[in-house]
Amino acid sequence: MDARDILGLKRDGGALTPEQSAEFLAAYTSGEVADYHAAVLLTSIFIHGMDDAELAGWTRGMIATGETLSFDSDRPLVDKHSTGGVGDKVSIPLAPALAACGCAVPMISGRGLGHTGGTLDKLESIPGYRTELDAGELQRTLDRVGYFIAAQTADLVPADKLLYALRDVTGLVASPPLIASSILSKKLAEGLDALLLDIKVGSGSFLTTSKAADDVSRRMSAIAADFGLPTTIVQTSMDAPLGNTIGHALEIAESIECLQGAGPADLRELVLHFGGELLHLSGQTPDFALGRAKIAAAIDSGAALHAFRANIEAQGGDVAVIEDPNLLPQAPDRDTYTATTSGHLKITDCAALGRAVHALGGGRTHLEDEIDTAVGLSFTRRPGDTIEAGDPICTLHHRAGHGLSEARAFLSASLSTTAEPQRDTLVLTPDSPTAAR
Ligand code: URA
Repeated sequence: MDARDILGLKRDGGALTPEQSAEFLAAYTSGEVADYHAAVLLTSIFIHGMDDAELAGWTRGMIATGETLSFDSDRPLVDKHSTGGVGDKVSIPLAPALAACGCAVPMISGRGLGHTGGTLDKLESIPGYRTELDAGELQRTLDRVGYFIAAQTADLVPADKLLYALRDVTGLVASPPLIASSILSKKLAEGLDALLLDIKVGSGSFLTTSKAADDVSRRMSAIAADFGLPTTIVQTSMDAPLGNTIGHALEIAESIECLQGAGPADLRELVLHFGGELLHLSGQTPDFALGRAKIAAAIDSGAALHAFRANIEAQGGDVAVIEDPNLLPQAPDRDTYTATTSGHLKITDCAALGRAVHALGGGRTHLEDEIDTAVGLSFTRRPGDTIEAGDPICTLHHRAGHGLSEARAFLSASLSTTAEPQRDTLVLTPDSPTAAR
């Protein structure tokens, strides 16, 4: 194969055939085609997009670069994946809540992408926690605990593993076909019975407009239907960070609070909503409302926290962090960001808050970068709150001032006040959940 033929075709706005996609992706995965070839092709896809048939062929080509998983479980296999947001930690309490309700959750997750943090990186802030598990460990953890949250194995969609990292460092994340194929290639290879896709919309998402979110939703729904996987698509707002914290260890502490029946209301709301919908979609409850109530009961009874503890143990982490979150990495230094004007707090650019954490050391600029899981932001005020100039809004958790002035500049560009409170609807669509089966 001469990669230049395929690059030229897409550069000029043509559509790849399924064979061309499969051939290119196989050659890229085997190392025959270089990162620079792939970066050129991704750029052309970013600019020209993909039609539906082309996207289906590309997604199949990605799956074909590896093995598909096949878990042995008499429980329904369910999973959730989000298109990525700021402070989005929902998977961390949701997976144990679903496991506590009788589901098996084989959750293959990702690392930080662009301005967003990754579930795997967050979990790895728990001392000892391992996310790189082999196939035997995945099955054993699923059997013993009811869920795992792990990285792609070398064999599971290796093309996505490479493309995901490449998109991150080349600024090619925010593309509807690349997001749809990245997520679905992994989820379709998991051998699931039911899937929920959380499509984030707003200034903290890669999909900033409802048009882009609708486009991704429609495409994902079509591909999932083509593969016969019962899938529910929910669009949720990402104009403000989810919960009160952004940063790896800080978000684990907040997830533990959620599993203890406390923590921020928006986080709990999405856990109940997505969990309820997945229990319904997988036939565990006759309707959504009963599913939601069952998830709430699993959290409030401590059963979900019990599953989380078992998972930490199974994946090699220190369970003592549950009782004492101070055992999570702590940034040595704190700084306070205060309001410069009075009014109702408004977030004008949620992605900038993710970039602030990145600046503090909590994100990657190069593929091989180490991240600082201790740094981040914790908010004491929520969007819409009435504040006076000089009121503290958020704490910056930093290390000896590293990235502090840059982070503060991101905060001041992102936070303002208005005369009217910012009203955010968290779950945007559908009003009453229905599955695209
Ligand atoms: N999550 C993924 O797995 N891929 C994307 O492209 C975005 C979010």
